[in-house]
Amino acid sequence: MEKIKAGMFEGHSQAQVAAVLQGWLFFGLIRKVLDCDFDIGEFLFDRHGHTFVTTRNFTKFRDARRVRAETQLFADKHNWYNESYWSVQEATNTMDELAKRSAEGNKSPLQPEIELSIYVMISTLQFELASFLSAESLTRRIVDESGIRTCQMLQARMLEDGWCPSHVEMLASSVDAAAMYFAVLLGPPKVMKDHGKCSDHSCEAEQIIESEYVTKHATSSCSCDYLGPDSGQIASVLEAGGVPCISISPSATWEDISLEVTEVQAGQAYVAISHVWSGGLGNPVSNSLPRCQLIVIRDRVAAIQSRGCDEGHIRLWMDTLCVPLVPQTLRSQAIKVMKRTFAEAKSVLVLEAELMQATRNCGNEEKLMRIYCSSWLRRLWTYQEGMLAQTLIFQFSDGPVSLQELWAPMYYGTVYDARSNGIALQAATFYRSLRGFSGLNKPARFASLWQAPQWRKTSRVQDEAICVAALFDLNLDAILETPADARFKKLLELQSQFLLGTPFLAGERMSDHGYRWAPIALMSPRGNDVHMMVQAESLREYFGTWTPEGLLGNYEGFEILGSFPRPSSETFRFKCNTNEKWYVVSRAADKGSKWIDTGPHALLNPAIILQQPIEYLIDWYKCLGILVSIWKKDKGVYYARYSCRVIVKAELSDMFSVWNDVLNGNQGVENMGSKGLIECVAREGSKNRDQNGVPGRPWCIG
Ligand SMILES: [Zn+2]
Ligand SMILES: [Zn+2]
Repeated sequence: MEKIKAGMFEGHSQAQVAAVLQGWLFFGLIRKVLDCDFDIGEFLFDRHGHTFVTTRNFTKFRDARRVRAETQLFADKHNWYNESYWSVQEATNTMDELAKRSAEGNKSPLQPEIELSIYVMISTLQFELASFLSAESLTRRIVDESGIRTCQMLQARMLEDGWCPSHVEMLASSVDAAAMYFAVLLGPPKVMKDHGKCSDHSCEAEQIIESEYVTKHATSSCSCDYLGPDSGQIASVLEAGGVPCISISPSATWEDISLEVTEVQAGQAYVAISHVWSGGLGNPVSNSLPRCQLIVIRDRVAAIQSRGCDEGHIRLWMDTLCVPLVPQTLRSQAIKVMKRTFAEAKSVLVLEAELMQATRNCGNEEKLMRIYCSSWLRRLWTYQEGMLAQTLIFQFSDGPVSLQELWAPMYYGTVYDARSNGIALQAATFYRSLRGFSGLNKPARFASLWQAPQWRKTSRVQDEAICVAALFDLNLDAILETPADARFKKLLELQSQFLLGTPFLAGERMSDHGYRWAPIALMSPRGNDVHMMVQAESLREYFGTWTPEGLLGNYEGFEILGSFPRPSSETFRFKCNTNEKWYVVSRAADKGSKWIDTGPHALLNPAIILQQPIEYLIDWYKCLGILVSIWKKDKGVYYARYSCRVIVKAELSDMFSVWNDVLNGNQGVENMGSKGLIECVAREGSKNRDQNGVPGRPWCIG
């Protein structure tokens, strides 16, 4: 097997190698983990003279094992778990090795369909194993952290189906092959848009160009007139510091519908509408909507408000109707009360075009995956609104579904519902972040904003900075006084505190002095990066602080002494003079950064700042780092300019022979021998940590 991984087939044909791999990684793994024996014929069927693999009988063997497990001794179960775990691990490693080799341009012995089937089986069995432990399974994403991709056919299929490249990239970087395959099976988008100009990072079709914006009617053939609330009444409610809402009679028809403005009173139920502007329910020119839409929205609100609705009136709040477009003072006032608007609503109803065309009559994982794929989740303030909502409800074509309903089977169901439904679990990541959101400190909550990839590019950016400020209780007037193009920077200044992991997030970052630590767009817009950072740091009570020169925070790192061979290769080794240990540094696979411009050879006083303490770097652990150049040392603070991300590992002692090979230039890695070794000193800060127990020393990353 080692030979296959290394690409040495020794005279065997690709087909023979593929058959061996399939026998072992697919059928062998099922036998192992499901602890059963079967004739391969049970997993095959013939059609038109060709043999296909089918998993029709898979559940039979899986359920039989689940039944046996009920009466199994703990020790036996434990053995089963351990052995199976290592088999799955070994299978994953083998597949990763093949993926790595094909990324290097070697043809994989596996056909794409077989590759996919093996990944899907690995994922399924890995989640099956998770039923044994309370720990969660972490499966391989389609794109792993070093950028190596598998199952290209899934991405190709989704693009062919008409999905946006940024959406495909989001899925590829956040879910495994089984979940992405499931998403592919759900079919093409129901609302077709032109994604011709979109990139992996951002969707141009979601951008709002106000001059071209068209408010949609309920049916494309309709051309009814528009109706809006009395702007004077909205203004007087807002001026009095209240929250305006719209009251509609449940029996009103298309002809006699009227929108009555009332002020939200304590204990009075209303529904706040959360929608995506690109879905056509916005209106950039007046606070009004077509009559046909008002009737549809009224009926949807009525359907969820049936209980708790007083005097038969349907009350709702919607930005299109309740946030005045002019004057700016009134608009700002409406935004100031936005947080209250969502927090006090009885429910928040999500109207999203894709979801509104999909049925709710389907499995839980299908509904969750559709929500996960919806553009609503890609909005900037979704997390804030979602967190504030007392009840969050999604509108499907045939009715509403609340988040609680979606989550209940996983929460109250069997251990297999809770741990082994890998697709539902992956698609529900957003819910778990949402649920955990309210308990988080402000810097951790703010971190979710980095996940909204396109927000700084929209024409409504001014409004968005204001909304964020309002939802985070930041000084709104200070934002309003700032010119529109500087509002994002002002927002960061006002937010002031950030998770220390922020500069280590992948993706494009700001280019202004003092702000290079701040991402503009993440590589994986809704991937694990932010989620993992928040999990790792949510309990910490120390943060990075905004300063005009950059983000000031405590980190450990290495300062590189002397000059650097130029241009350096993308992997280099150095010895730390402080602890006499060797480390390996390699460039992180970030798009858009060129090593020739960002590597240590290009920097005046290069240093590496680590995300973890230096002592974390033992054995196989690797840690993200950023390469910086130190431009000032003042009062114990190192001022550093961000250059690029790197991955740092400790050199294993038994790897020393490899290191000698490297010195001799045998491995194609930088031959340091001829260029002088790179000397480094550790910058760890005081061993006696300060009273807060904060490790590291102060760096200002700008
Ligand atoms: Zn797009
Ligand atoms: Zn109409």
